[in-house]
Amino acid sequence: MSLFENTLTQIQKAAKLMKLDPNVETVLSNPDRILEVSVPVKMDNGAIRIFRGFRVQHNNVRGPYKGGIRYHPQVDMDEVKALATWMTIKCAVVNIPLGGGKGGVIVDPKELSLRELERMTRRYTMAISNFIGPDIDVPAPDVYTNPQIMAWIVDEYSKIHGKNIPGVVTGKSIAIGGSQGREDATSQGGVYVLEEVLKQYGKKDVKDTRVIIQGFGNAGSHVARMLHAKGFKIIGVSDSKGALYCKDGLNPADAMTCKIEGGSVGECYGSGEACEMMTNEQILVADCDILILSALENQITAANAAQVKAGIILELANGPVNPEADEILEGMGVKVIPDILANAGGVTVSYFELVQNNMNYYWTAEEVQTKLKTIMVAAWQSVHDNSLKFDTSFRAAAYISAMRRLEEAIKMRGGY
Ligand code: NAD
Repeated sequence: MSLFENTLTQIQKAAKLMKLDPNVETVLSNPDRILEVSVPVKMDNGAIRIFRGFRVQHNNVRGPYKGGIRYHPQVDMDEVKALATWMTIKCAVVNIPLGGGKGGVIVDPKELSLRELERMTRRYTMAISNFIGPDIDVPAPDVYTNPQIMAWIVDEYSKIHGKNIPGVVTGKSIAIGGSQGREDATSQGGVYVLEEVLKQYGKKDVKDTRVIIQGFGNAGSHVARMLHAKGFKIIGVSDSKGALYCKDGLNPADAMTCKIEGGSVGECYGSGEACEMMTNEQILVADCDILILSALENQITAANAAQVKAGIILELANGPVNPEADEILEGMGVKVIPDILANAGGVTVSYFELVQNNMNYYWTAEEVQTKLKTIMVAAWQSVHDNSLKFDTSFRAAAYISAMRRLEEAIKMRGGY
């Protein structure tokens, strides 16, 4: 099943439960606009290489399209369509006035020099420039894109329009109009929701709660740091090169040092008796209380779901548990906190960034935290209420919360 088909399956499941108007389901199952562009780049050796770029605008009935840009060798249109659809749903789950979009370029950024990466980003920006803007469609960072890449997009877009337009993207550095708290917003939002879930369903003291984190990039490393600071026992972390499992707990700051110095989270551990190296497959099914998925999609599938030991899964990545695995985990009583709620802190602070750019007035870190917490807790309460009302999973309940809001907006605006 493709990723977009996964998304449609999730929509269909919730639509049936909530008795969604079939016309609304049809609208939500079809992206508004699909763009595929050619991105010619002069490489350092003088040769021109063509990269393929995508931008999908799924739905803007509640506000401008919003969603990240992914640079990855395996990006394809199906994936971008799925991610754009999730953005529409996600913004509605947290009830912010934005729609859903997503972009991607088929590239391995590690193979490009910095200058090539800049030229490619600027050409991609030019190729999609008629379709983006603060009131139209606002990109942001995603896998292998970062504030530097956002800065090049702002610069190129501003040049095209002859004025400074920082609100064309979010996830910028503070120096050019970024928001306080954006860098770790996804993780912070996930932590706020996790704490609410544990208030209802937690079985142990925080200090005895064992956490494994898959993926040690932006989302994974920040969530590790935050939970460690709150006293949770982080017993496993992994990155694309392998996994580290320490039954007595590890310090994420040390794992980060290993990653920086040795290229992987496990490089400078291993000698300690309480620690062992594992494969990426093993760490997902190792013994723990909470499994945080913050790498890529389709990590828990029918092939490994039944071996999962965690009682709670927090999806910081998009789509890490596929629909077959969802059914298996639901049957096992595992509580999955779905991506569209768990990682929505990122887009929420992106929304704050856009608001601050629009008014050219900036909030303190404390103001951002307070506003983020209010939104995340309210979103969780709505999802939890729906999970009880419809006797369903948090994922289906999150879809129901979102699709009710989208249904109201679609019907109110009409125009079909
Ligand atoms: P990132 O590129 O910073 O980090 C990805 C990490 O996953 C890296 O450490 C990489 O080594 C690791 N990884 C890749 N394959 C792996 C594997 N098979 N096993 C273990 N680790 C593996 O990306 P990020 O920004 O942290 O995003 C991670 C996920 O979170 C993505 O699905 C992204 O869409 C989602 N997300 C991120 C944000 C955000 O604000 N950063 C917001 C919403 C959703």
